[in-house]
Amino acid sequence: AVQIRTLNKWYGAFHVLKNIDLHVQRGSRVVVCGPSGSGKSTLIRCINGLEAYQDGAILLGGTMLGSQAKATALARRQTGMVFQGFNLFPHLTVLSNCTLALRRVLGKSRKEAEDLALHHLRKVKIPEQAHKYPAQLSGGQQQRVAIARAMCLSPRVMLFDEPTSALDPEMIKEVLDVMIGLAQDGMTMLCVTHEMGFAREVADQVVFMDEGRIIEQASPKAFFGGAVHPRARMFLETIL
Ligand code: ATP
Ligand code: MG
Repeated sequence: AVQIRTLNKWYGAFHVLKNIDLHVQRGSRVVVCGPSGSGKSTLIRCINGLEAYQDGAILLGGTMLGSQAKATALARRQTGMVFQGFNLFPHLTVLSNCTLALRRVLGKSRKEAEDLALHHLRKVKIPEQAHKYPAQLSGGQQQRVAIARAMCLSPRVMLFDEPTSALDPEMIKEVLDVMIGLAQDGMTMLCVTHEMGFAREVADQVVFMDEGRIIEQASPKAFFGGAVHPRARMFLETIL
């Protein structure tokens, strides 16, 4: 679903992504972890067209993403993005948050858009919140709305950037449960997260980044079994 080939990106003189090669196969789940500043968010933002890059290629479903055009229509349409902060539109109800792009971008009727939105709100187990505003929801509920909103556009891949790191412990589980459900439904997922229980349970591959490079890519079994680069092992010891 996503192929990243020898991707290089600089912020000015700072080489932030170095020769990144990564293949996220359709229906697979890849978890990306690594220390702060290693380039995880930047990588995700390149895939969904929020950041330009200077060298290499990103293919979504076999189609090359333009490297310069920020926010290419293709990247936006084919990727669902969930951020650490929930990034809902505060002035719109939960339902309108979910239907906005369906109506404006895909031109669906109100009825069609609302049916689809309610389907996804049921999947994340909050259909009863449909008419509330984001500020009236808990963080965990807001994040589940963000997931439902992204799923409404039938993305080819769901991209998560630390979706639970701004949440209180009791809300982390409800969001992880929704993500596990997506994985069980066969959704292709690329998740930046330090929730290693999640990685162990659903990941096909765990990727470890350090200083802009992928320095380890392994099955969860190998990764948690300790058969990894010493720097990855050190990192694991600090977070587990
Ligand atoms: P964290 O775990 O803290 O979220 P990260 O792995 O997601 O870290 P990035 O946010 O991708 O890291 O940042 C990678 C590096 O690029 C950092 O050193 C950061 O300071 C730098 N950086 C990020 N955004 C910009 C920007 N817009 N301009 C310049 N440098 C940036
Ligand atoms: Mg980040």
